[in-house]
Amino acid sequence: MQTILTGVRVNEEPTIGNFLGAYAPMIKLAQQHAGDSHINMFVPDLHSFTTPIDHDKLYNQIIRGIKYYLAAGLDASHPNLHVYRQSHVAAHSELCWILDCFTPFGEASRMTQFKEKSADINNNFVSVGLFNYPVLMAADILLYDAKYIPLGEDQFQHLELARNIAIRMNRKFQQELFTIPAPEREQVRFMGLEQGLRIRSLTEPHKKMSKSSPNEKSKISLDDDPQLAAKKIMSATTDSEGVIRFDMANQAGISNLLTIEALLNNRPIQDVIADWAGQTSYGDLKRKVADSVAHFLSDFQARVADIDDTSIEQILAQGEAYANEVANRKLHLIQRAVGLRK
Ligand code: ATP
Ligand code: MG
Repeated sequence: MQTILTGVRVNEEPTIGNFLGAYAPMIKLAQQHAGDSHINMFVPDLHSFTTPIDHDKLYNQIIRGIKYYLAAGLDASHPNLHVYRQSHVAAHSELCWILDCFTPFGEASRMTQFKEKSADINNNFVSVGLFNYPVLMAADILLYDAKYIPLGEDQFQHLELARNIAIRMNRKFQQELFTIPAPEREQVRFMGLEQGLRIRSLTEPHKKMSKSSPNEKSKISLDDDPQLAAKKIMSATTDSEGVIRFDMANQAGISNLLTIEALLNNRPIQDVIADWAGQTSYGDLKRKVADSVAHFLSDFQARVADIDDTSIEQILAQGEAYANEVANRKLHLIQRAVGLRK
């Protein structure tokens, strides 16, 4: 059975960018494929402090991250659905070290996210963990032989790194140690998309919306007060063209609002573009999107509030038992290949 796997880092409160780019596609795939695939939805909690965070809040954020998977529609009672914390499956860290030793420094140094993130960190503490996190991400994927990893467009370079590591190790040890994750184009097709999703920052629409952005106005967080979120949409940066068009190159702010409107209402983007074609009131479009965002957040937050902590503990106990079994089997295979075990 093939494995579909994804995770969302819980360093900060997730945004609607994370929801639309990662949670929603994964839930859709889970619904379509739970009968014929393992669906691994994990919390990459070891990735949480590659950039500085408030450690007192982390544990609750991890548990809330799991509630978000369920609130987004994940049916955790399905036997092929596995929810686990990366930190509770030690094989992730152990495989990461081995993979590190088969990852050329030059290749890891090319990761643009490291360059961007390290440049953004204002207290100058850039950790080795931040540099190394794409290799840990490769371990997260390769341990479970995952072929499909629904993720946003910003993660494709890391996916490519994981593929390269797997191809290199399979070749070196002349056996199929790892399943090679599908390449970018096939991933996108598998998600039912034409291209990877990138929800834009509300204040700087040429950039992506990021949960770690210190600018609260740039993002809609999943725990935002719905009325406040509506205000953020109303003050989103647009342009001076004066006509509503989908044109990411020249009208990124407007195109972003059209995209959010389509995705939140489960409508084809072409239909939403057609609804607004030729209209000139940015205010009308913003009011419509603000309303959709406020509704979405109210519903979502009500679903989160309904999930109790005991049910999370049960889900994790089952998911982590499964994940440890699968991951340890793979780790042993690799340890044998590299000569650590007989
Ligand atoms: P950070 O700023 O901490 O890196 P992030 O918002 O980029 O946060 P990640 O934890 O890096 O979130 O990514 C989690 C998942 O969400 C990934 O699959 C990523 O591709 C997806 N994702 C992140 N931002 C967006 C976005 N703006 N649009 C679509 N998908 C996104
Ligand atoms: Mg990111």
